[in-house]
Amino acid sequence: MKKIAQNIFLLELPEPSSNAYVLLGDSKAAIVDPSICSERQLDAALTAGGLSRKDFSRVFLTHSHADHASNARFFPNAVLRASCETLEKLRKKHPESFFAEFGVGFFEIPRAEEVVDGQCLKFSGFELLCLRTPGHVPDSVCFFEKKSKILFSGDSLFPVSLTGSVPRVFYSQGGSDLLRSWQKLEKECVGAKVLAPGHGPISKEVEKDLEESRRAIAGAFL
Ligand SMILES: [Zn+2]
Repeated sequence: MKKIAQNIFLLELPEPSSNAYVLLGDSKAAIVDPSICSERQLDAALTAGGLSRKDFSRVFLTHSHADHASNARFFPNAVLRASCETLEKLRKKHPESFFAEFGVGFFEIPRAEEVVDGQCLKFSGFELLCLRTPGHVPDSVCFFEKKSKILFSGDSLFPVSLTGSVPRVFYSQGGSDLLRSWQKLEKECVGAKVLAPGHGPISKEVEKDLEESRRAIAGAFL
């Protein structure tokens, strides 16, 4: 695991995984976007970081796409937290989740709780602000950890280094929803220091990333 802030780590998993982030609390851990890989690969990555799946009491999803959500099935005892639309897509086995494409069968969700826009979840010393950010997909959510000022953006915002080539893939639904979502991030994530995206490198230039993304999307869609 690669440390990105006090008690917050990037869990390094093999392709085609999304970035998975571990929040290490005093007694229990949480994971944002558990990603996709085999059970063995997941266990190996956790073991290398001194953890096991039973240490996790919470799984957060930024959206339902399989490269972010699939490994949630390996944490049946944790509470799955996601937007109501994400939970509905998973429950109804929505084709947009692309699970078949990744060779993962749909899975049951034994314990789930929806997150609401603007809700701040406090646990194990963390304060996670949940923000609905439609654009990449309608069910997208970003999580802003208020103490460390880290923005877990899923596929809703990427660092400058990726925005040149990635927007057409990740922003396939067009730009206007995303622009509104980025405005919201700017307003709500005051003082954001670190952008922890769903793919690619972590960035410490959140303001610049927002600005460059706006420019890229204007060129691509508007
Ligand atoms: Zn996605």
